[in-house]
Amino acid sequence: MILIIESFPYTVSLLGGDDFLELLRKYLARFVYTDTLPFDARVLNMICLVGFFSAVISFFLHAIEQSNLFTMGIKVAMVVSIVLLIVISNRFNLHTQGKWVTVTGFCFIFFPLIFLQNGGLHSGISAYFVLSMSVIFLLMTGKTRIVLLALFIITTFICYYVDMVHPQYIYPLSDRQQYIDSAGAYLITGFFIGPVSVMLRKLYMLEEKKADAASSAKGDFLAQMSHEMRTPMNAIIGTAAISKSATDLEEYRSYMLRIEDASKHLLGVINDILDMSKIEAGKLELLEEPFVFGDMVASVVGIHRFRLDEKHHHLEVHIDKRIPRVFYGDRQRLAQIIANLLSNAVKFTPDEGSITISATLLDNWEAPEDENIVPVSDETCIILIDITDTGIGISEEQQSRLFRSFEQANNSTSREYGGTGLGLAISQRIARAMGGDVTVESRLGEGSCFSVIVRLRPAADDVLPVSHESDEQRARKDMTGLFANRTALLVDDLKINCEIAAALLEPTGLDLIFASNGQEAVEAFAAEPDAFDLILMDIQMPGMDGYEATRRIRKMDNPHARRVPIIAMTANVFKEDVDKSLESGMDAHLGKPLNIDEVVKTIQDALDKQGG
Ligand code: ADP
Repeated sequence: MILIIESFPYTVSLLGGDDFLELLRKYLARFVYTDTLPFDARVLNMICLVGFFSAVISFFLHAIEQSNLFTMGIKVAMVVSIVLLIVISNRFNLHTQGKWVTVTGFCFIFFPLIFLQNGGLHSGISAYFVLSMSVIFLLMTGKTRIVLLALFIITTFICYYVDMVHPQYIYPLSDRQQYIDSAGAYLITGFFIGPVSVMLRKLYMLEEKKADAASSAKGDFLAQMSHEMRTPMNAIIGTAAISKSATDLEEYRSYMLRIEDASKHLLGVINDILDMSKIEAGKLELLEEPFVFGDMVASVVGIHRFRLDEKHHHLEVHIDKRIPRVFYGDRQRLAQIIANLLSNAVKFTPDEGSITISATLLDNWEAPEDENIVPVSDETCIILIDITDTGIGISEEQQSRLFRSFEQANNSTSREYGGTGLGLAISQRIARAMGGDVTVESRLGEGSCFSVIVRLRPAADDVLPVSHESDEQRARKDMTGLFANRTALLVDDLKINCEIAAALLEPTGLDLIFASNGQEAVEAFAAEPDAFDLILMDIQMPGMDGYEATRRIRKMDNPHARRVPIIAMTANVFKEDVDKSLESGMDAHLGKPLNIDEVVKTIQDALDKQGG
């Protein structure tokens, strides 16, 4: 008899093998294998579920005996509290609290009560002891686990002490009751430890597989990125090499255009990677500036006009008349989403196809549940922008993977058409940061429709800057001779960078004096502070870097040193880099590669600010 009882845990452990697991998984998978719950929560659910069945079994065992109504009451209370625990912790996301309730309930309430009510040392208490220890081990980690184990062992000792010194507090069991209680205890423990260990192993394997998949996706992604960057790089280096032997200017020009194209493509790839890493690190920041919605759409279309004409695409643009003219928001990021989708539509639609962009004002929109969708205030308009094409379409299987970062829809398409596979992931994350989403409907061979939803705060017309010209137009129009009679100190360790900046700025008439590191810059400025109207400062340089040089210049005992505009001109383009430049005392930040319009505008603003 004893042997049978003792072997219960093992029997149930064996039962807890695959067949039993299948059964459990089928009905209980929702609680345990679901990805939407954190790992901890799934372990908690699993323990609670097994605890639930164990309590039911033990209730029936005691019902057979019918000797101890109090113990039966405890079991009923256990069943009810376990059910409540699962429901409450899942519904209100209280898994951490749930863990504590389970541990406290099992080890510090249930265990002593069972001990006192079931004949103390003469019952199946050793099985309950193992059960309680396992609960602490499974649910707690680190120091908490050690402290709780120690407390539990102290509790056990107190119980044993009571049994030995004050046996009158222990409810005595008959031999028959002892057997039944031991059977119940071992059954419960076996039932608990068997399935839980098997399920835990499966859970760990599942997590491991997920981590493997993530790291292999990252590996594939890096390989793909390397390929994406090498392709334009190859075009640049190769074309530069052949261009050396060009004989006439026209041929030379065509090589240069090819290099420019490849470089722009390369910059696009780098920007995508940068955007994605910003998004992954939760550092995507959106501006809140007024912009004209229609102009934004028109400028995106303008950029793609050449490709559209080249492929003889028929393009239609509809903008709902009810959409307000001006919104507050991040014009550039919204334009980036539309540009991504439009360039995909152009890329994946054969010649003579049609593409439609339609923007509609929605009255309401049921946002799907997603942590990345940022809730926005109710005063926003919900704008739906559909970009529909008659292109090659996307299969359902591909659609499910389209928006994942580090994964591409179809490796063979990407090889044929190029692209990083990040565009859609980035677009969707930006749209979600704007309180909306990007979704797709598509049929293979018939075409695709990408729908963007964003929530934007409408603005009155008069919040726009007075000049209706765009910044770029303004910068370009007045560039010639704009900075004549002005002198700038250009600090950069690379000669090629100095040459590029000089060539770009030449039309503006800005006089440049060069310094090749921070130390030289400080010395040049100290020698003749009033000679410089402006400093253009690289950051990473051998010897003294740009931050330090700026700090030293700002500290000089000269009023002009504190006011002279210093603009960072650097390939460090992360927000932290910009913040660091500003902290060191610079006035503005320009990212490399330089965009001449931006350079001119930034210099102009800095000079205006200093003058005003
Ligand atoms: P990429 O920069 O490579 O284009 P995206 O994330 O923008 O990356 O797109 C990922 C993939 O989705 C593309 O490689 C392509 O297979 C598919 N795709 C995107 N847009 C379309 C479209 N309009 N028609 C067909 N396939 C598309």
